[in-house]
Amino acid sequence: MNTPEKGYGVVYRPKKKLSEKKRKTVFKRLCDIVGPENFSDKEIDKIIYSRDFWPIALRWMLERKVPALPDCVVWPENTKQISDILKLANEESIPVVPFGEASGVLGGMIPVKGGILVDLKRMNKILKINDKDLTVTAQPGLNLMELERLLNKEGYTMGHSPQSIYCSSLGGNLATRAAGQFSTKYGKIDDMLISLEAVLPQGEVIRSKTVPKSSTGPRIDKMMLGSEGTLGIITEATLKIWPYPEKKELLSYAFEGMESGLECIRKILRRGIFPAVIRLYDEKETAFRFYQTGKAKDKCLLVLVLQGDKELVELETKVSQDVCRKHEGIECGEGPVIHWFETRFNVKEASDFAPREIIFDTIEVSVTWDKSIELYNSMISAMENVNGVIVAFAHASHFYPQGVCFYFIFGGTPVKGAEPNEFYTSVWDAAMRSCLDAGGSISHHHGIGLMRARWLGEELGQSFEILKKIKKSLDPKNIMNPGKMGL
Ligand SMILES: Cc1cc2nc3c(=O)[nH]c(=O)nc-3n(C[C@H](O)[C@H](O)[C@H](O)COP(=O)(O)OP(=O)(O)OC[C@H]3O[C@@H](n4cnc5c(N)ncnc54)[C@H](O)[C@@H]3O)c2cc1C
Repeated sequence: MNTPEKGYGVVYRPKKKLSEKKRKTVFKRLCDIVGPENFSDKEIDKIIYSRDFWPIALRWMLERKVPALPDCVVWPENTKQISDILKLANEESIPVVPFGEASGVLGGMIPVKGGILVDLKRMNKILKINDKDLTVTAQPGLNLMELERLLNKEGYTMGHSPQSIYCSSLGGNLATRAAGQFSTKYGKIDDMLISLEAVLPQGEVIRSKTVPKSSTGPRIDKMMLGSEGTLGIITEATLKIWPYPEKKELLSYAFEGMESGLECIRKILRRGIFPAVIRLYDEKETAFRFYQTGKAKDKCLLVLVLQGDKELVELETKVSQDVCRKHEGIECGEGPVIHWFETRFNVKEASDFAPREIIFDTIEVSVTWDKSIELYNSMISAMENVNGVIVAFAHASHFYPQGVCFYFIFGGTPVKGAEPNEFYTSVWDAAMRSCLDAGGSISHHHGIGLMRARWLGEELGQSFEILKKIKKSLDPKNIMNPGKMGL
């Protein structure tokens, strides 16, 4: 595995290497397509594009191992160039991996079979804001925070604010079906998408119509949502936007346990009230994040943000307060919500602790209300039962009238003699097994990548076989992000 002369190892090495002759002709043709200034096969670039935020990849880097190297990197500037790149890659049977900003947490963009890394950051413009239709059309490489700032300046919001808003792209969010922290009111990125343009694996460009709804057969464009670069490259998208909220109300309540907190939220949603932010922290996570909130000691803290039209927010606030009181929620005021706003982008645990052999990660799943508390309990105890786990806690952070997304966090250290990555994988195994047994979905918004690929067959059942057939027919040479999602 190691190449000591360079001082680092490479974990995934493609079995088939490009011959020197082929490499030369392919690189020359790529330079002709994107221009030599938008092409690199420098080692430093290849190393930079070798990994995302998957914690295993972080560990490998600490061990002086590069997860995988692409053969080259290109920075296309338009859809035609992308189509030409994919045609060339097909002709020469070379893998292509789309790249947003590498904030994926499951190894989705690691170029495990080498090939052409397509970084979309030069396609980063807002193409149109349509005030009458309340839509924005933008390119995939646009940074999400940049998009939100530009919208805010014009008096709008997209309402999509994942914790990775500063470090992820629009295209990457669509390709993983991401969810923002304000999702209960505004929806997830899948709900926001109206139409898109994409280049399919053999270079064909598809473009859907920008209409609010149509009944014209199955929607091929929607297949790109969650496809994680395996079915093509998203090159443009039109999404819903909202007028910038006129009013914001911040509420928080403490509940005796997760069950009563969840029940209260379910009742709020049943009244047709959709607070933008709803987050319910279990006792351990409340103690970890809100230790300064005395009234929430040994309890589960609920954070609510209601925003939008002033009159509606006033009514929604009143109804939410009534329901919380009825469910014996203890009022904790605005303080914890302000604290949440101030700290919501702090995610230093994983990288802070990794060099000290302590491993942290997060696992998000979804489940219907009727199975929610059983799933929460069984996943927590499954993780706690793994040798070496020090802590496992959770909050619920995305809600529907039908159910909920739980976001679990575990931390631990391998017991003597065990490999850190073995320990990490055994916690994931325990969590995924208990999620499937409890009737949940193995991912609510992070996607599949490399880490969850093993469970996708069980999750999807026969549909997984159909997905494989679709992949084969669209991408017969398996050039698009090969080795991912178990495809
Ligand atoms: C600190 C932190 C916080 C996070 N918080 C959230 C959160 O709140 N909610 C959430 O949902 N996720 C969250 N994530 C996960 C991550 O941000 C998302 O998965 C995000 O959608 C990935 O975007 P990206 O642009 O970085 O994509 P990348 O990581 O570059 O790529 C992700 C996948 O999409 C493919 N891809 C990228 N661009 C395109 C394209 N244009 N066309 C086709 N395929 C493409 C890649 O090949 C890869 O398979 C978080 C991650 C971190 C590190």
